[in-house]
Amino acid sequence: MPLRAGNVFMVVAPSGAGKSSLVNALLTADPSIHLSVSCTTRAPRPGEVDGREYHFVSEPDFLAKQLANGLLEWAEVHGNYYGTPADWILQQTAAGQDVLLEIDWQGARQVRKSFPEAIGIFILPPSIETLEARLHKRGQDDHAVIARRLLAAGGEIAHSPEFEYVIINQEFSAALADLTTIVAAARLRFRSQAARHAELFSQLGIPHSAAN
Ligand code: GDP
Ligand code: ADP
Ligand code: 5GP
Repeated sequence: MPLRAGNVFMVVAPSGAGKSSLVNALLTADPSIHLSVSCTTRAPRPGEVDGREYHFVSEPDFLAKQLANGLLEWAEVHGNYYGTPADWILQQTAAGQDVLLEIDWQGARQVRKSFPEAIGIFILPPSIETLEARLHKRGQDDHAVIARRLLAAGGEIAHSPEFEYVIINQEFSAALADLTTIVAAARLRFRSQAARHAELFSQLGIPHSAAN
């Protein structure tokens, strides 16, 4: 397997746990992490821009992309389709860039088939009551959508043991520090370091096959 310097981070959480807020704060502080823009059949929320939060597509267009193997993973979440464009991730990681995917647990399972070394991070709310309060506070989904997302939260949280890391998003700055620490640790993994410092590793006689 070729050595890739680029890490693949997957951030997963029930809706309202603070995933987008944390990821946006991380990327502002560290622009060298590149965010994957998913395709979705969900309607844009107020303020969302096509190509920035999502590529907003029709259901036929989504299914056509999926049939053409254009998606690294895809899933139906809360009644809409979501998927990660394959080309972009493959180009970025091949070029040694770190990429971050905001996806659901079903997608994370599929990504591991292509990227077994992907780093899974699950964001938990401090309580279900707080989760509900945040969904209302965000004020971007109607009551039926919020109810549906809250109902799904337990099922999503049940998949948290599949992830390497868990962050409890109680105090925002503490949760952001946790996320930053995970990224820093991932960058120090043997295979990342060996790819980034290939010349030094070669000079020191460290065999490439030692990468794990
Ligand atoms: P979206 O991705 O456009 O929905 O934006 P976010 O979900 O990332 O953030 C929505 C709003 O919540 C923004 O105005 C943020 O500044 C604000 N926000 C983010 N984190 C916190 C927090 O920890 N506490 C509070 N009170 N507000 C926050
Ligand atoms: P997700 O992307 O997981 O659906 P968001 O990032 O949109 O969640 O966060 C949901 C709401 O909770 C937003 O209004 C956000 O500002 C707020 N929020 C996120 N983290 C915290 C926190 N630690 N304390 C208080 N509010 C938070
Ligand atoms: P939202 O509509 O709140 O932006 O996202 C709803 C859910 O869909 C979240 O759990 C989010 O992680 C998931 N999601 C967003 N993009 C993708 C994607 O490309 N693939 C998969 N599998 N899930 C996604």
